Order: sequence, then C-alpha cells, then structure tokens
Amino acid sequence: LRHGSRRPLRAGLASRGLAPGGKGALLLLGIDIGGTKTVLALGDATGQVRARLRRSTEPSGDAGRDLARLAEDARRLVVEAGVALSGVAAVGVSLPGPLDLDAGLVLNPPNLPGWHRAPVRDALGAALGRPVHLENDANAAALAEWRWGAGRGTQHLVYLSMSTGVGGGLVLGGRLHRGVASSAGEVGHMPLVWDGEPCACGLRGCLEAYVGGAAWTRRLARVTPEASRVAVLAGGASNARPEHVVEAAREGDAFAVAELARYNDHLSRALVQLTFVLAPEIFVLGTIPSAAGEALCLGPVRERVRAHTWGFLGEGLRIEPSALGARLPECAGLVVAAEALGAVSG
Ligand SMILES: [Zn+2]
Repeated sequence: LRHGSRRPLRAGLASRGLAPGGKGALLLLGIDIGGTKTVLALGDATGQVRARLRRSTEPSGDAGRDLARLAEDARRLVVEAGVALSGVAAVGVSLPGPLDLDAGLVLNPPNLPGWHRAPVRDALGAALGRPVHLENDANAAALAEWRWGAGRGTQHLVYLSMSTGVGGGLVLGGRLHRGVASSAGEVGHMPLVWDGEPCACGLRGCLEAYVGGAAWTRRLARVTPEASRVAVLAGGASNARPEHVVEAAREGDAFAVAELARYNDHLSRALVQLTFVLAPEIFVLGTIPSAAGEALCLGPVRERVRAHTWGFLGEGLRIEPSALGARLPECAGLVVAAEALGAVSG
C-alpha cells in the first residue's frame, strides 16, 4: 500500500486487478496440482477463463524445483495472455492435502514426492510477487461446484470427487467447512465395513476401498469373468476398468450390471449416513457417477437414499452429477483465489 499510494488512483486499482468493471473484471490466477495433470488458468471471479495452460504434473522429487517451474509457467501464461503479472489480484492453488493453511504448507501429499512440508504459499508468493492462497483439492472442487456448478444457490452442499480416490468437501451454511488440517469432508475413509477391504490409506473397509476407481480396478482384475462383455471391451479381464463396466452395463451385460449395483449400494449407504449427519440440500458427485449417468447410477442411488432416510430429509435432497466436468481443474484454482478475496460472483 505504501507503494500504491504514490501512484495515481486508477493505476493503483488496476494493479490490484480491481479496475475497470468491478468484481467481474478481477483478474485471478488459478493453479490446480493434480495427481497426473497440472492446470493453470487466468480468469475472473465469475469462473470465466481467459487463458489456460495444461501439462503433466511430473514431480521431480524436489518441491523447490517443482514450484520454480510452476511459477515459470504462471509467468508465461500471463505474458501470453497479454497482461501484466501485477494485474493479477490473487493466486489460488488447489492441491492435495493435508495442508497447514496458517503456515501455507502442504504436509505430506502422497502423489507429490519431495513435497513434505513444502512452503507452497510463500515460495509461489515470492516468485510471483502476488498474494497466494491454498486449498485442498476436494475443498476447492466443492467451492467451485457450489459457486459456479451444480450447487449454485444452495447453502448446504456435499461434494464427492468419486474418481481414482474419493475426496470430499463440505459447504455448510454457505461457508466451506475446513476442520482440522483442512481435512473435513474426507468421507472416502468413513468405514462402511469393519475390517473390510484394505484401503490405500492403511485402514480397512473405507468407502474408497469399495467405490474408489483404483480400488474398483483392482477388484475387477480379480473378479471379471473372461467371457463377460467387460473383459471383451477391456481387451482381457486383467485390463478391466470402471469405464468398461459402465459401457457393458449400458449394453445389459449381467456381470457389469451386478458390479454397478454393488457400487451404487456402497455409495448410497455413505450418502445416507452423511444425510443424517449434515442434512445437505445437494450431493454433487464427480467422475464415475457423472459418467455412468441417470439410469445406471444417479437414479438408483437417489431412490436408495430416499428409501433409507426420513421423508423430510430425503424428499427435497438433490443428488446430481458434477456440472463443471472437465472445467473443474480450471475453476478449482480460480475459486480459491476468488473466495480469498471475498469476490466470488456467479
Ligand atoms: Zn481409507
């Protein structure tokens, strides 16, 4: 502010991304660091993207080197979009948790070797000269679906990523609920079965051990009959994946239909428990349910959940696919920046 106060007002506002045009014109940079892909997006507080950059995450084993490369990408994106870095009001980073938000650290992300206690906020802040805000990826996705996706206009939303793993985020009373280490909403590790299937987290019987894409893929390699349509589509039972089950179930293959029923059953049980604890207005379900669609997943799950909750909790309860789909990584980083500025608009 000391520097800004010496400049003309208009330039000072522009350098904070605040002029002209109000909130919609706020220029924000979003970064989503995924297990396989990293996405950078230059956009605004309505979720509109002006420029984007996608690449493989490829962690080098050295967080300092990875963060320097990320800052370099950010600079390149901004330059190619024809704007100055000083015009970016804030940078939002969506990344795997757990996080220490006060210290701006990621603690021990399993898919980012060498990132143990990496000072993501301060390293990127120093390299870019802009304020940087972090959020765990599932929380960022919940915020993005709430602000710009399937949950627009609601106050109580539960998001489940339903991808390789099962991440979750909670918006309660119109605010992201973070909990300890920003880890609230880790619903993928609620036990469905004591001493059940082993989970990647080290526990047993977790929801993710039944409906996570990676766990389901491991199971399919074990149980897929060679004569099933799933095996034919996959080019062999040992290559069977959830997408082959969805495709085969659409064609009426009995094994695939039974596998999806099992999936829906476990998912429904978790949603019923969450409904009694949180009484949400909407569950937003990510990758696998979105791909399977109404007839194979969302419809049966909705019916199951309503049958096992009290009428007033289940009747108005929405169970919807992600509305952002492939745009989610871009929106996740942007919404973190926008929320930090209190600037989100639909
Ligand atoms: Zn687990």
